[in-house]
Amino acid sequence: MTAALDINITKVETSKLLEMTLENIPFGKYFTDHMLEADYENGEWKNVEIKPYQPLLMEPSVAALHYGQAIFEGIKAYKDQDGNVAIFRPQDNFKRFNISAERMQMPTVPEEIFMEGMRMLIEIDKNWVPSMKDHSLYIRPFMFSSDPVIGVKPSETYKFMIILSPTGPYYTAPMKIYVEEKYTRAAPGGVGFSKNAGNYGASMLATAEAKKAGYDQVLWTDAFEHRYLQEVGTMNVFFIIGNTAVTPSLEEGTILAGVTRDSAMEVLKDMGLEVVEKKISIEDLMDAHRAGILYEVFGTGTAATISLIKELRYKDYVMHFDTDQWKIAPELKTRLTDIREGRAADTHGWMFKV
Ligand SMILES: *Cc1c(COP(=O)(O)O)cnc(C)c1O
Repeated sequence: MTAALDINITKVETSKLLEMTLENIPFGKYFTDHMLEADYENGEWKNVEIKPYQPLLMEPSVAALHYGQAIFEGIKAYKDQDGNVAIFRPQDNFKRFNISAERMQMPTVPEEIFMEGMRMLIEIDKNWVPSMKDHSLYIRPFMFSSDPVIGVKPSETYKFMIILSPTGPYYTAPMKIYVEEKYTRAAPGGVGFSKNAGNYGASMLATAEAKKAGYDQVLWTDAFEHRYLQEVGTMNVFFIIGNTAVTPSLEEGTILAGVTRDSAMEVLKDMGLEVVEKKISIEDLMDAHRAGILYEVFGTGTAATISLIKELRYKDYVMHFDTDQWKIAPELKTRLTDIREGRAADTHGWMFKV
């Protein structure tokens, strides 16, 4: 599928792994021995390199720091009981990365650099992939504009990189969520569907205010009426209403097309639920709650997989859930992690062998 990749490889002399243990390692804090780096210049990608993880040397004028052409992905690799390493659906992240790139007027990255570069990097750092339950290797591909020029225009040069971070169980307690009516994450015509750095920067004030009010995150609503539901924090959102799993549809371009979202839809169908993507308003949700058929609410994303929601507040209307009684979200989480960690058959063909 991928052509042989011409890569310059420089390895570390001694692995940092000799001085640490991967058990229960916190998310996003420690990085493996190596990283991948490539440069875009004169219309082509060159200098593809795997080398020791190290700081970057940049000019203060580097364009990404000023005008925000910066995109990323989040992917996970797992080691099964026999020591085989596999990546969860990286092809989907590759496609999404280039969709983000096009929206941000950045060059696309060729498949062999993204996919084969990632595979080779993980092969070199395979001792860093934890095999303990609920552990994984978090993969962070990213790209940023690198012209040392202050001027509002697309950069002519870019850097593409992949760094790797081993991670232990990412436990999140059931969350209290505030339905956002003041701030907006995404509007039609905007950049909500792209995984660009600015979306995160723009969301932090809303999250901070929700936290001050005693909530963990916000449930984003549409930009015009603050009625139609979008995402929960940086996760896609699902509602179990009767025997149907409902998730907001992607067509307006205001929602990030999560790989976990797509996987959850497939596994929920395997579990016998009807799955519906549609425009859903807070009134629809409150009606279902009043009727006693809003059973479960949860978020999906690569970092936490499934996050349960125990309270949802809209104005003065508060919906409480007893997450200990839930059947669907916990079963969905178990099924997804069993596939990823190699305990269940990969019937959907999601695992990409390293
Ligand atoms: C990354 C992300 C998600 C989740 O996507 P996954 O592919 O499932 O990790 C959801 N919403 C936003 C805003 C995101 O950035």
